[in-house]
Amino acid sequence: MADLDSLEKARCHCGKEPIIFLHYAQKHLCEEHFIRMFDKRFRKTLSVHKMLRKGDRVVVGLSGGKDSTVLLHSLAALRMDLPFEIVALTIDEGIKGYRARTLGIARAECEKLGIEQTVLRFDRETGRTLDRMVKEIGDDLPCTHCGVIRRYLLNKGARELKATKLALGHNLDDMAQTVLMNIMRNEPARLARLYEPVSKSPRFVPRIRPLMLTPEKENAIYAMAKGIGIEHVECPYARFAFRGHVRKMLNETEERYPGTKFKVVNAFLDMDGGLKARYGKDAALKECSRCGEPCSGPVCMFCLRTERSRA
Ligand code: SF4
Repeated sequence: MADLDSLEKARCHCGKEPIIFLHYAQKHLCEEHFIRMFDKRFRKTLSVHKMLRKGDRVVVGLSGGKDSTVLLHSLAALRMDLPFEIVALTIDEGIKGYRARTLGIARAECEKLGIEQTVLRFDRETGRTLDRMVKEIGDDLPCTHCGVIRRYLLNKGARELKATKLALGHNLDDMAQTVLMNIMRNEPARLARLYEPVSKSPRFVPRIRPLMLTPEKENAIYAMAKGIGIEHVECPYARFAFRGHVRKMLNETEERYPGTKFKVVNAFLDMDGGLKARYGKDAALKECSRCGEPCSGPVCMFCLRTERSRA
C-alpha cells in the first residue's frame, strides 16, 4: 500500500478516496472499485484455468487464515451464478497458541455461510500432535513434516467427503515462493506437479487454486473491506522455514521491481506444459504398500514420516 501522504493526495479513477495503491498496475482504487477488481480477477482465474464446473462438489481446505477464509467467501458468493456444492475441511496440526485461534475463525465463518465443516486432527490420525512430533524428532524441519501430513489428510479427507475438487487458498505470493523454492532446490519434477498432478489417480482429488493470481496483501485488504473475520497470527514454526527466506527476498524484489511476483507465476504457468511433457513420463502414480494412498515410491511420505515419529 502507498504511504499515507500519497494516498491522501491520490484518487481512484471515480474520484473517491483510495484504500489501496496497486504498484504493479500503477493504480489507486477506492473500496468499491477494489472489491470489483478483486471479484472480477477471481472469476477470471476460475474461468481461464477451467477450475470449476456446474455440479462440482468443492472441498475447501480451510485453515481459518485470511487466504482460505477469503476463498471460502468468494466461492460461496459464486454459488448464486453457478450451482455447485461447498464443504469445508480443516486440519488441526496441534500447534499450541496458534491453531486454536484460527480454528475458531474457521468454525465461525462456516456457521455464518451455512457451510458444513469437517475437522481432521494430526493426533487422531497419526497418534501425535505436530508439537509432540517436533519434540521427538528434533533433527527435522517442522514445516517439512507438517506439509507432508497436511497434504495427505487434505487429499484423503476430501476424497472421503466425495469431493470432485479440492480448493486451496494459495495466493500469488505463495505460488511465486513455491516456484522459486523448487528452482533453488533443483527440483523441476516437483515443479511439474505444482499446478496439477502429471499423472492421474482416482484416489487423488484434483486441486484448484483460485487465488493463485491474487497478491497476499490484497486478500487481507479484501477481508477487511468485506468484514470477513481474519486474525494476524503466525505459526511459531514459520521462522524455521526456507520459505521465510524466499518470501523476504521476493518481497524486496517486488518493492523495487513491481510486478515481479506476477511475472514469476505467469512464467511458470507458461512453462507448465513443457515441464509436464519432460517429467510426466517418469511420474506414474503408484499405491503406497502400507496405506494404499497415491504416491510415487513404494511407501508414501506420510507413512515414512509418521512411522519415524512413532519409533
Ligand atoms: Fe505447518 Fe510450517 Fe505452516 Fe506452521 S508454518 S502450519 S509448521 S507448514
